[in-house]
Amino acid sequence: METARQIVHLDALTGLPSRASFEQGLAHELIQAKRHGRSLAVLFIDIDKFKSINDSYGHGMGDLVLLTVANRLKSFVRGGDMVSRWSGDEFVCVLLEVKEEADVARFAHQLVNRIAEPCEFNGTVISIRSSVGIAMYSAHGEEADILFNNADIAMYKAKGSKKRVVVFHTDPTPL
Ligand code: GH3
Ligand code: MG
Repeated sequence: METARQIVHLDALTGLPSRASFEQGLAHELIQAKRHGRSLAVLFIDIDKFKSINDSYGHGMGDLVLLTVANRLKSFVRGGDMVSRWSGDEFVCVLLEVKEEADVARFAHQLVNRIAEPCEFNGTVISIRSSVGIAMYSAHGEEADILFNNADIAMYKAKGSKKRVVVFHTDPTPL
C-alpha cells in the first residue's frame, strides 16, 4: 500500500523533502501539537555568502556545500524532527515537542557551530557560515505559513544584526 511517506517529493541534490511535502508535514504536526498542547519550533536556515562560494570555487563545490549542510542538519536533529531544503541555500527544520524558547535558541547556536565545522573538498577547506531565524508554535503563529514567514523574518534579522540566531519578535538571544 502506498503511504504518504512514499509519495513525499525529494530534492534531487540533497535527498531532503521538498517544500511542498514539507508544508503538508508541518500542517499535520501542528494538528498534533494543538491536540496534545505541545510547542514546536520552525527554524529557517540560510547559508551566508553562498554566492561567493559558487563564484570562488565553482557550482560543483557549491553543490557539495549544500549536501554537507543537508547531512549535518539531518544528523543533528532528533528522530521525529523534520528537515527540508526550502530553496537554493535555504533549509527549514521543525523541532517537535520543544519547551522553552531559550532551549531552541541554544540548540540553534549549536547547529550553526556544527554547520561551521571545517569541511574539505578536494584539498580545499571551507567553513560554512549560516544564519537562523526561529518561530515557535503557538507564541509566534498557529498556522504553517505564518510560522514559516515569521521564521524567515527572524532569519533576515539574524543576518542584518550579524547575530547568527534570532527568535522572532525578540532581540537577538544573548548566548
Ligand atoms: P546571503 O549571505 O545574504 O545569504 O547571500 P548569499 O550569497 O547566500 O545569497 P543568496 O542566498 O541570495 O544566494 C543563493 C545562491 O544560491 C544563488 C544561486 O546562484 C545559488 N544556488 C541556488 N541553488 C543552487 C544549487 O542547487 N547549487 C548551487 N551550487 N548553487 C545554487
Ligand atoms: Mg544565503
